[in-house]
Amino acid sequence: MLTTVVGSYPVVLGEPNSFIEKLMANLGSYDPYEYALEQAVMDQVNAGIDLISDGQVRGSMLQMFASQIPGMSVDGNKPVINGKINPVPYSIGASDLKAALNTAKKINPEYGKNMDLFDGQNFNKNFKGIKGIITGPTTLALSSLIEGFYSEDKKEQIIVDIAWALKKEVHYLQDNGAATIQIDEPFLSTGIADLKTAKKALDIITKDLSVPVTMHVCGELVDIWDEILRFKVDIIDGEFADQPKNIQILDDTSLKGKKLGLGCVNNKTDVIESKEQVATIIKKGIDNLGKENIIADPDCGMRLRTRKAAYSKLKVMVETVKWLF
Ligand SMILES: [Zn+2]
Repeated sequence: MLTTVVGSYPVVLGEPNSFIEKLMANLGSYDPYEYALEQAVMDQVNAGIDLISDGQVRGSMLQMFASQIPGMSVDGNKPVINGKINPVPYSIGASDLKAALNTAKKINPEYGKNMDLFDGQNFNKNFKGIKGIITGPTTLALSSLIEGFYSEDKKEQIIVDIAWALKKEVHYLQDNGAATIQIDEPFLSTGIADLKTAKKALDIITKDLSVPVTMHVCGELVDIWDEILRFKVDIIDGEFADQPKNIQILDDTSLKGKKLGLGCVNNKTDVIESKEQVATIIKKGIDNLGKENIIADPDCGMRLRTRKAAYSKLKVMVETVKWLF
C-alpha cells in the first residue's frame, strides 16, 4: 500500500548564513521558504512517504492562489475578489514542485524515476514521486469577499472563471513532474457549496489532464458521498481518523471504480497515534474496499502541528502500513 500526505507541512523558515545568503537578504532576494520547503520534503522522504508534496510552505491554501490570480487579492488573511478573474500568465507552484522533487531525489534517487502513480487499474507498487496541489475553485470562491466586478449572485460565474484560471496551473504542474493533480475542496462538505457547480468546475480543470486526479475533501462526507462519487476524479481523499461518522462510508459503499485516500492519522493534535490505532482504520478500509483501492495519508494538512509531531505521525503511518503488509 502506498502512502502520501495531504499537502501542508510545518514551516521552518531559513536564516541567511553564508556571505552570499546575507548579501541576498540585504538585497531582498533571499528566500526563507526555500529552506522550509527542503525541510518539509526531507521529513516526508525520511519518513518513507511514497507520494510527497512540496509542503505548501509559502502560505495558506487560500493566500497562495488568491494572491496570484488576476482579479483576486488578499486583504489581511482574507481572499478578496475585486476584478475579472483571469488565468495567471506564469505558474504559481511549478518551481516549488521541481525544487521539491530535486530535494527528494538527492536523498533517494528513486523519487521521480517511475512517475506513473497507477499501473493499469491499480496503484503502482514501485511508485515514488510528487503531487501537484491546487485549492479548488468552489473553496476559493466561497471563502472570498466579493468587492468588485462580480455581484453576489454571480457565484457560479466566479467559480467557473476560477476554474479556467486554475486549468493553466494544473498543466504547468503536470508538465513539471506532478504524478497526480490534487484539488483541495474542503467547502464541499460544509453544506453551503453547490455540488453541481463544483463538479462542472472540476470538469473544466481536469478535462485534458493525462495524470490521475485526486480530490481532497475534509469534514463529514456521509451526506455528500454519493454525489462526490460522481465527480470525474480518480482518487477521493477524506478524513477517517478524526471524523468518526465517515467510517460509515467504509462500511456502506462501493467506490464505483475510484480509489480512496484514507486519512488515518489525526492532523488536529500533536498526540501521536499508536500503530494499533492507525491499523484499526486501515484494516477497516481494506476489509471493505480492498487494499488495492487505498492509499494511506493523514486526515488533512499538517501545517499547524509541531515539526516533531508531523514527522512522527508520518513515520507511525508508514510503519503501520509496513507492519500490516
Ligand atoms: Zn483538508
